[in-house]
Amino acid sequence: MEVTPENIVTLMCNTEATWRHIAGIAVNIIARKEKDMNSEQPRWTRELISQIGAWEDRKHGEIDYYIPQALTGHGSFMSYLKRIGKSAEDKCRYCEGVDTPRHTLFECERWDGRRIRMNLDVGEEVTTANMIQVACATKQGWNAVMGYVKGVMREKERRLRNYVEED
Ligand SMILES: [Zn+2]
Repeated sequence: MEVTPENIVTLMCNTEATWRHIAGIAVNIIARKEKDMNSEQPRWTRELISQIGAWEDRKHGEIDYYIPQALTGHGSFMSYLKRIGKSAEDKCRYCEGVDTPRHTLFECERWDGRRIRMNLDVGEEVTTANMIQVACATKQGWNAVMGYVKGVMREKERRLRNYVEED
């Protein structure tokens, strides 16, 4: 089956094996595009995928519907909706920023409260550079980081669904 932007999240969520397979392909594509790293999307995924060793070695952590969305950027992000033609703009619905995964998870003030709770739970500041490692290191880390990701994505999805339907 052909993997496309439209089905990648569903495929990745199917099984642990499809997740690993697609993540493996993504690593190769990103390595080949190394020279062409100016856009936000490849850099985001590359930073996360550089921690894939920790991901594969982890002993805990269910992958649900929301996590691959956040990690691949294929989901409830205005930047993605614009790319696939479902929105004319890529502005965040909560502030003046451009709505990318990095913006949502680490920059947008809308999620400051949840972010602070996550950092307190794991006892350090979670960043793009350590996010996967922190989540994979302990069960508590997983619950804090992925709980944050899921909470944010769930709320965004609700908001964006309304937005997309309005149009
Ligand atoms: Zn924002």
